[in-house]
Amino acid sequence: MFKTIEDEVLKKAAPVALQREFEQYHFERQQRFCLLIYIASIVIWLVFDLIVSFMGGQRFTYLSPLFLGALSVLAIILGFTRKARHFHRLNVLFVLIMTLGIRMVIYGLPVTLQPAWLVLAASSILYGASVLPLSRGSFYGALLITWLILNPFYDTDIELFDLKGTMTACYSVFLSALTLYTFLKLRQARLYAYIMSKLLLDQAYLDTLTEIPNRRAFMTTATKQLQTRPREHDHYLAMIDIDNFKKVNDTYGHDIGDLVLKRIAADIKAVMADFQYARLGGEEFAVYLSGVRRGDVEHLAARLCRVVRENPGEHPVTISIGLARVADGDSLSQALRKADEALYQAKHSGKDRYTFAA
Ligand code: GH3
Ligand code: MG
Ligand code: MG
Repeated sequence: MFKTIEDEVLKKAAPVALQREFEQYHFERQQRFCLLIYIASIVIWLVFDLIVSFMGGQRFTYLSPLFLGALSVLAIILGFTRKARHFHRLNVLFVLIMTLGIRMVIYGLPVTLQPAWLVLAASSILYGASVLPLSRGSFYGALLITWLILNPFYDTDIELFDLKGTMTACYSVFLSALTLYTFLKLRQARLYAYIMSKLLLDQAYLDTLTEIPNRRAFMTTATKQLQTRPREHDHYLAMIDIDNFKKVNDTYGHDIGDLVLKRIAADIKAVMADFQYARLGGEEFAVYLSGVRRGDVEHLAARLCRVVRENPGEHPVTISIGLARVADGDSLSQALRKADEALYQAKHSGKDRYTFAA
């Protein structure tokens, strides 16, 4: 079954908005890894710069600290970057400065060694770029800059059609194709894994009929709010139940019952948009209201009863609501029980109303 769902998902092209969402998620998950790659690259560059400056006799000039400073600033900016698209641009700049720095170091080598070291450096940069969470545009940018600046035929002793030149050109093409293919395949695999997990999470946490959060989602989010609430904030719970719903099913059939459930869910979503709401099961819903006063809660409950009553559609129903304040030290299930008792009171005092737990 899993395979069938997976095949269905993979058949569709991912919309651009979903790809952007994935890129942001992927970047957030991998930001430390990106930083590690940046710092490692800077350190390796510095090691080679020192070797060539002192052992190679290139001399250590003002250019070295300049490159080191610029690369370090970019690494620091990366540490504070929050948006994936900013990282994608930053990486193009990083590759540009890094390749310029590498070219400078390689100029300190004997001329016969230069083409091979240019290709070695390009391999390292392209390998790094292929595993970073880049957008396609940013990867193509890195690829282009790498070969423009580390071009082994520019200002070296090889020609395209001599032995060294032909071998270098063939290897460079192979390397570019391999890293590009790796990047695209890895990206696609991660994108599909993201889409699959999003789909499965949606299915696990959304109620299929009403498309609002389900009991599992409610228990998770409400427990989290309960545990992290500031002491000065009051929290309330509302349990909502449709009045005489069995009669709707018995009179009009189950399908109409389903339509009514959807309508009530939409009303709850509209009135309680700022709070955590869910369908707990059957014709019961719950809302967790945080950071509100008792007066606000009563006002919202009265409004919800009114909206349901005055927006009857073809099959009018009413709702009853039980309200309870979540006392200090209450667990979620204790609070739910209190709200349920209040709901029972609302049902027994005539329905189509809200009642506060004593
Ligand atoms: P009360 O005013 O006391 O709440 O009466 P009620 O008839 O609403 O209460 P009861 O709990 O007896 O009925 C709930 C009904 O909800 C019973 C069940 O058939 C129906 N129900 C539960 N889940 C669904 C659903 O997904 N779709 C439909 N159409 N009906 C459902
Ligand atoms: Mg019920
Ligand atoms: Mg009912």
